Amino acid sequence: MAVFIKELARYFNQSIFYSRIIFTISAFLFLSLEVCAQEKIYILPLGEIDEEVIQNLKNKLPEVFSLEVEVYNPKKIPLSSFNPKRRQYHSSLILEELSKDKLKGYTLAVCDVDLYVEGLNFVFGEANPFNKICIISLTRLKQEYYGLPKDNNLFLLRSLKEAVHELGHVFGISHCANPKCVMHFSNSLLDTDRKDFNFCNLCKRKIKNVHR
Ligand code: ZN
Ligand code: ZN
Repeated sequence: MAVFIKELARYFNQSIFYSRIIFTISAFLFLSLEVCAQEKIYILPLGEIDEEVIQNLKNKLPEVFSLEVEVYNPKKIPLSSFNPKRRQYHSSLILEELSKDKLKGYTLAVCDVDLYVEGLNFVFGEANPFNKICIISLTRLKQEYYGLPKDNNLFLLRSLKEAVHELGHVFGISHCANPKCVMHFSNSLLDTDRKDFNFCNLCKRKIKNVHR
């Protein structure tokens, strides 16, 4: 009888053990699917944007973030964000307006108009981590803007750096003191050109913690 009870207890212990494993695996799969469903980067062209820039971002961003990248159909820039006195667009207002749409995953809006926020002459971009959305402007990334000869490779690289920087903010990463790190603050294009398009090791670790 004692042996029978022992066997029975062993059987129940084993059942509990196996059901725990099955539960853990199911929970893991469910969470993974949930994360995969959410974690995608969506590029949203605002107005007419050079297709080469979009394709370059679509190809290069997965290298940095290890996430799939999709491109939305282009949208018009919200007119309410235009400031006729400054002849610039208020980036925070654009982000606010875009957040009203049901956007999936992490959104990177790309525009080719000059952006500003209160208190600054211009901005290369802005991020709103709360709504998982950011925007970059291509206007001041072109050599032609400064009366210099066109340099397409430099332009594509700058747009990638600005996109990674703003998306980094969306992932909750703040500015980095390392001038080579993509999260270093760009006061001018000199700073942008000096830095890499990727994160330094410290910021890479922070990004990994966000993905976890
Ligand atoms: Zn920044
Ligand atoms: Zn860094």
